[in-house]
Amino acid sequence: STQFEIRGLKSSIEGKEILKGIDLKIQGGEVHAIMGPNGTGKSTLASALMGHPKYEVTEGEVTLNGEDVLEMGVDERARAGLFLAMQYPSEITGVTNSDFLRTAINARRGEGNEISLIKFIRQMEGKMKELEMNPEFMHRYLNEGFSGGEKKRNEILQMMLLEPKLVILDEIDSGLDIDALRIVAEGVNAMRNEDRGFLIITHYQRLLNYVKPDHVHVMMQGRIVKSGGPELAERLEADGYDWVKEELGIVD
Ligand code: ADP
Ligand code: MG
Ligand code: MG
Repeated sequence: STQFEIRGLKSSIEGKEILKGIDLKIQGGEVHAIMGPNGTGKSTLASALMGHPKYEVTEGEVTLNGEDVLEMGVDERARAGLFLAMQYPSEITGVTNSDFLRTAINARRGEGNEISLIKFIRQMEGKMKELEMNPEFMHRYLNEGFSGGEKKRNEILQMMLLEPKLVILDEIDSGLDIDALRIVAEGVNAMRNEDRGFLIITHYQRLLNYVKPDHVHVMMQGRIVKSGGPELAERLEADGYDWVKEELGIVD
């Protein structure tokens, strides 16, 4: 089964250190949640793992099934099975959703193993139905004019079609109404299996009512400062983050 491991990861943006040493181990089948106040480096962690050029890794190791992720380019990471559903998905004019998805699937599958058009369309239509998406989204330009909720569903559609080994969801719950949240959560739950790990970044506990995490981590000032089970998320929802700061003597 899948093994994803982060050891002592430090990352800087424009010379400023944001991640100050992250350690995290995710096994296939596990769902880990990272919670924390705004500006503590949660999205930075996601971007650094995906190899975004703006986020320089200055120290640490990241491995997926023993392979060195930090040595891989952005495309290679995707091919290896890393997937990020972004907090702010970008719009790409001139590229339709279906073109984008088929290119991404074929990049993941590798040369000589491309998906046939007919099979791709069948899969895409099936998953869109599960996500209660309007079929016209296939032909629209990627994310252009999509509402917040539509963008997030589209990210989940990508996840379902790409079948990644490690899924990172960055605030997928923001901008979703309760029905969309349930549909997205069902999509995530349907993808849970022994070969796939999940890292769910969220500000709020409400998504975790639908996608039960095995482990919950609190991130503050670029570090994971506390870890626990689902009860930790419930406590944070009820009491906020101040008690964690007090308990650990963190001053901001
Ligand atoms: P979170 O996701 O926990 O809200 P972020 O990772 O987005 O936090 O941000 C952590 C810190 O890094 C913040 O101080 C933010 O201003 C800074 N930061 C993040 N992305 C960039 C960027 N692209 N350019 C400059 N600073 C950034
Ligand atoms: Mg934020
Ligand atoms: Mg963020």
